[in-house]
Amino acid sequence: DLENALLDTRLALQAQHDPLTGLPNRLLFQDRVQQAILRGYRNRKKVALLWFDVDRLKQVNDTLGHRIGDELLSEFARRLKASIRESDTAARIGGDQFVVLAADLDSVPDAQGIAEKIMKVLRASAAFSGHPLKISASAGISVYPDHGLGPAVLMRNADLAMYQAKRAGRNGFHVFHPELSESLGRRLEIERELGNAIEAREFHLEYQPQIGRDGNLRGLEALLRWNSAKLGVVSPAEFIPVAEEAGLILQIGEWVARAACQEGAKWIRQGLDVPGIAVNASGLQLTDKTFSDMICSTLEESGFPPSKLDLEVTETALVGNLESALQQIEGLRKMGIRFSLDDFGTGYSSLNQLRTLPVDCVKVDRSFVKDLDRITGDSAALVRAIIGMGHNLRLLIVAEGVETEGQLAILRSLGCDVFQGYYFHRPQKSEAAEELMRAYAVRRPHRPINAGEGRAVSVSPIPDLVSELVN
Ligand code: C2E
Ligand code: CA
Ligand code: CA
Repeated sequence: DLENALLDTRLALQAQHDPLTGLPNRLLFQDRVQQAILRGYRNRKKVALLWFDVDRLKQVNDTLGHRIGDELLSEFARRLKASIRESDTAARIGGDQFVVLAADLDSVPDAQGIAEKIMKVLRASAAFSGHPLKISASAGISVYPDHGLGPAVLMRNADLAMYQAKRAGRNGFHVFHPELSESLGRRLEIERELGNAIEAREFHLEYQPQIGRDGNLRGLEALLRWNSAKLGVVSPAEFIPVAEEAGLILQIGEWVARAACQEGAKWIRQGLDVPGIAVNASGLQLTDKTFSDMICSTLEESGFPPSKLDLEVTETALVGNLESALQQIEGLRKMGIRFSLDDFGTGYSSLNQLRTLPVDCVKVDRSFVKDLDRITGDSAALVRAIIGMGHNLRLLIVAEGVETEGQLAILRSLGCDVFQGYYFHRPQKSEAAEELMRAYAVRRPHRPINAGEGRAVSVSPIPDLVSELVN
């Protein structure tokens, strides 16, 4: 009957439309894109996808409330609809994401013209429940057949172009560039996935042992590992710079510090002989004024002793001589936390500057260690100079990236204090690190190691080095 028929139509409409704005939703939109592509193919016309992201919607929701946020979205939808042709489609496909389908175009600049027109209409100011607000959006454009042949690819590329526009400063639009898509696409994907990696519990830590001249376990460097559901395992060398650029490093750095301290405290409670734990801190973390508070509360909450915490920072973080960074470091050192200068020799600071930097330890960069047992190159002279200067200043010298017996022999002869690298151990999962702590505790008291006594140990929990000395 009529009533049921009406109800059916309404349900069908609801399933295809966004309740807030009345615009088509993603499903219906994709269907229309498919139709437009078929027509475009037949008539040799282009089809444009314009992807809009409302700027600062979250800010509006947070400060003025969701009702005003909703009003803004509805107004945005009205304007979008008013500025396109009857035959084109505007849709809402996510919280602050809108798309427009414009068909029957002759060129890519046609699509840009449409975007310009829409942006102009969107920008006119308006009042929402008495609050004058400027609407603005960032937009990305992809065009069939230039930037993709199917709806899915076109949507993704319009989205990528929108992301580029956002990064270039809001309130503008970008046309998709095929050349940029690969590297940028990967970067953007990393940025997005990183955003919820903590919540999705995709991070864990591995620990790489640091061995003293006496063959004892001197420390464990905590290294962040990311196994992303979408991207698989991504190296920190790749994602840490992205995290820094995307403003995610503070959050991630806090997670690392907390995870390391909690695990360290747990190990102590289990009665393990826990050495110092080194945590890497990005330069950006140090320039953040809440860094030392964050470290203090992490130590308090976990119960991990400050005297066992070692923070690794790079020269670039210190050479700027940022007053607030230096003050925070001083404060933390007074509590007994140690600081290590990571990757020393790769940055801009000279040997002489070592004098002025507030650190307890210097880590000779991997690249110098690598060159040590080659005949060419003057790494040995450089490392000797670093060690000489460092010891003068009473700094502990750690060599990282020790991979061969030859490198170890030279480093030993130069007076290096601590060694870290695949020759001894690769970074270890928690359980393996526990085994190692037990194994090293057993081999005490000690006698000094000499080159040749170490063995490259990858995963075996009890290293040859240890069993050799214990037996
Ligand atoms: P890094 O601080 O210099 O860490 C040492 C890196 O060298 C680690 O790579 C480690 O696995 C690797 N390595 C250790 N021994 C050897 C060796 O004998 N040979 C070679 N070829 N490599 C060795 P990983 O874990 O991939 O980390 C890369 C970089 O990512 C780190 O360099 C550090 O700068 C950054 N990173 C890692 N975890 C964190 C973190 O929690 N926070 C921050 N801010 N950065 C981190
Ligand atoms: Ca490090
Ligand atoms: Ca390093």
